[in-house]
Order: sequence, then C-alpha cells, then structure tokens
Amino acid sequence: MTSRSADVVVLGGGSGGYAAAIRSAELGRSVILVEENELGGTCLHRGCIPTKALLHAAEVADNARTASQFGVDASFGGIDAEKVLSYKDTIVTRLHKGLQGLISSYGIDVVNGRGRFVAPDGVEVDGELITGTDVILATGSYPKSLPGISIGGRVITSDQALTLTEIPAKAVILGGGVIGVEFASVWASFGASVTIVEALPRLVPNEDEALSKYLERAFRRRKITAKTGARVTEVAHDDDGVRVTLASGDVLDADVVLVAVGRGPNTASMGYEEAGIVLDRGFVTTDERLRTALPNVYAVGDIVPGLQLAHRGFQQGIFVAEEIAGLNPDPIDETGIPRVTYSHPEVASVGLTEAAAREAFGEEIKTVTYDLAGNGRSQILKTSGAVKLIVAPDDSVIGVHVAGDRVGELIGEAQMLYNLKADAGEAAKFVHAHPTQGEALGEALLAVSGKPLHAHG
Ligand code: NAD
Repeated sequence: MTSRSADVVVLGGGSGGYAAAIRSAELGRSVILVEENELGGTCLHRGCIPTKALLHAAEVADNARTASQFGVDASFGGIDAEKVLSYKDTIVTRLHKGLQGLISSYGIDVVNGRGRFVAPDGVEVDGELITGTDVILATGSYPKSLPGISIGGRVITSDQALTLTEIPAKAVILGGGVIGVEFASVWASFGASVTIVEALPRLVPNEDEALSKYLERAFRRRKITAKTGARVTEVAHDDDGVRVTLASGDVLDADVVLVAVGRGPNTASMGYEEAGIVLDRGFVTTDERLRTALPNVYAVGDIVPGLQLAHRGFQQGIFVAEEIAGLNPDPIDETGIPRVTYSHPEVASVGLTEAAAREAFGEEIKTVTYDLAGNGRSQILKTSGAVKLIVAPDDSVIGVHVAGDRVGELIGEAQMLYNLKADAGEAAKFVHAHPTQGEALGEALLAVSGKPLHAHG
C-alpha cells in the first residue's frame, strides 16, 4: 500500500472539514483533506446555498404578485423551473470555484476519494494510507427517511427537491422543521398547494412557542396547510401521484412527497467503530473539546450531536485546529449559535427559549415582545411579526427570538447581546438607525428596561 502523511488529516470537505483544514494551514500545519464528492459538502451543494437561491426566486415571484400593492404595474406570469435551477446552479458553481481556489491557496493537499478510517492515525483512500499526527472526522449527514417509506420516484428528500424540473401542483411535506417549512415556503410562492404534516404539536418545534405561532399564522394566510400532531401511517405511490394516509384517517393526494424528518450522521461503514471511536445512535461521542474516544482524533460538524448548522461546523473546525495547535480555545456555547429559518416570513433565534429560560432561571426572568406593527421599516415592507426578548434576573440578555420577513439579519446583533452577556439596560443605550428593522430590537431593549418608546401596552 502506498502512503503519505501530514500534520493534520481531515476526513470530509464540508463546512466543518474545510474550516478545520484552512485554520490548520493558517497555523502552519501541513494538511491533507480527503473528500469523496465536491469540496463544500451539503451546505454548498445540497443545503444552505441552493435552498436560499430558491427562496430568493420565491421572494421575487411574491414581489411580482404583490407589486400592485405598492403601486407598481407588474404581473406574475409563472415560474420557469429550468431557469430557476440554472440561476441556483450558477451561484453554487461560482462559490465552489472560489472555495477550490481558497483551499489551494493555502497549500492544502486535497485527495479526491472515499476515505475509510483504518488506523488510529489515518484513513485509507483507494488503496493509499494517509496518516496524520492528528485526524479530524467531518463526514457530515444525510437526509433520513421513515420506517416503511422508501425514497424514490415521487417520494423525495431535499436532495431531489433541489433538482425538480417541474413545480409540483400539490406537495405534501413530512416534517415541519427547518427544511420542511423552507420548502413549503418556496413551493407555495411558486404556486403549489402545500400541506405540511408534523408529528409534534407545532411547526418549528425547536423554536420558542411564540415563533411557531407567528409562522403558523403567516402560513395560514399564505394558504399553506399545517397538520400538526399528525402521524403518517402509509405513503403509497404510482405513476400518477402519491397518497399519504394519516393516523387520523385523512388521506392527502400529491404529486410529490418531500420527506424532511431530520438528518442522520454519515458514520456507518467508515470504520469508525471498528477503530474504537464511540458512537451513540450513530453520532460520534466527543467531549466539549471535540475529542473522540481515540487520542488525537477529533470530530466536527453534523456527526457531533447538536445543531446541524454550517456555521456551527465552521466554528468547530476552527476550534479543533486551534486546539491541535495548542492555543487552548474557549469551548463553544451551543446556545450562543444563531438559528435562522429563511422561510417567508423568516424566524430566527439565539439563546434560550422562554420555556428553557424559566427552567434555568426560574420565574424571575423578564420577557418583552415588540410587535413589528410599531416598526416603520417592517410596515414599509408590509411584513408582520415580532421581536421577543428574554432577560435573566441579573438583567443579562439570555434569549432573542424574531419573526418577520428579513429579520434573520437581526440575529447578528442578537447573538452579540447573548454571547457578550450584555446587560439589557446598557444595550438599550445604543442608538439604532431609523427606519430599520433593527430598531425593533432596540425598542424591545428599551421596553424591558422600563422606558418603552414606541411600544404599546
Ligand atoms: P428538523 O429536525 O429541523 O425537523 C424535522 C421535523 O420532522 C421535526 O419537527 C420532527 O418533529 C418532524 N418529524 C419527525 N418524524 C416525523 C414523522 N414521522 N412525521 C411527521 N413529522 C416528523 O430536521 P430537518 O428539517 O430535516 O433539517 C435537518 C437539519 O438540517 C436540521 O438540523 C436543520 O437545523 C438543518 N437545516 C438548517 C437550515 C437553516 O439553518 N436554515 C435549513 C435546512 C436544514
């Protein structure tokens, strides 16, 4: 067997893996990055980037539809699915080229092939042994299905949903989490009739209950049906359509069924367990320094239990590279990682939900909800929603939850408040530009400090 070695070997070139590779190279390490498909992984090729391109096309369609409300004479003539796909592909291709250039500019050795973890210090790729002083596992995740439901034909996951050359007239989406509501939003804007089936009692069930309510209300207005607390008993398909049967007896007919019930870790048949890596329900068990059960072997990204988000992967990759280099970085606070769902309207959050805050801090927490009805910019955009702020008994900001079009951008400021443990009264002194949606966060800070300006009630 031929062999090569480097200071750091990274298995998987997605968000977590390539961030680890870049930071390691910056810190003077030689790096080999093993990737079986394309650099950039799920986020760039089958996740964040292509879905947000579809969501932007959806926004343009909605703008055309509602133009007359703003006195603009335009009309919505329909969607050219092929052109939407080519717009989306152009973005992905450009970013992919940029990423390849970036990786090569750091002198990172990219090995294209499927790696298998065969030794405590290395992986085998197409008959070659690649060893490192440190090894970082970053093999990502795949879309899960449900028992008895096989993916194929009209039953699809987000992977196939991103390449549909026809807009379905009727779509059923299993799962009302992030992927489910983002695709519901896109397809409804493209003209489809959409029903979401969610097992738990509300859409985006990981979010604060208030955000679920805003989203559900907005989706109702958009004629997106949400069947919550619903269980699927059968999905049957033929050439003409798919039929979804629920435990309630309801039968839903559709052209396409999207299964969006979560993503599983890519850890099977990689040699992990055989080599001594400890897995729990398929996820790699690590400590807070992202160390696996084997010395000098780390894991980052979607294979580590927790939020499956690209920006968490980036941060974990950077963390591990710095840990290996002996910089002793601070462990990452998962609660401080911002979460944004890019549907129309958007929902975004950082920190604790009200329920979690009550559990952690008791009944002494303060909450304020500032309605976007009082925010000029949101009125101009004709969007509704709110900023909900949660403050601990010591007055530090411990949760920010927002709903409304474009409010995902507010999470940058919100995460600074949370992560810097900002005192709400101190933060209320900062001036927000008028008219911006950011003012809504400023108004919430003023209100929670007992000096509301435009807050009613
Ligand atoms: P998710 O965990 O967000 O949502 C899955 C949903 O399916 C849950 O609400 C769950 O209750 C529901 N569900 C599970 N079994 C079900 C059943 N039998 N019937 C009906 N509903 C069922 O997962 P996802 O939406 O598939 O997304 C996967 C991952 O990708 C998530 O971690 C998500 O955060 C991430 N992601 C993030 C973004 C973003 O940040 N904007 C976008 C897409 C995906």
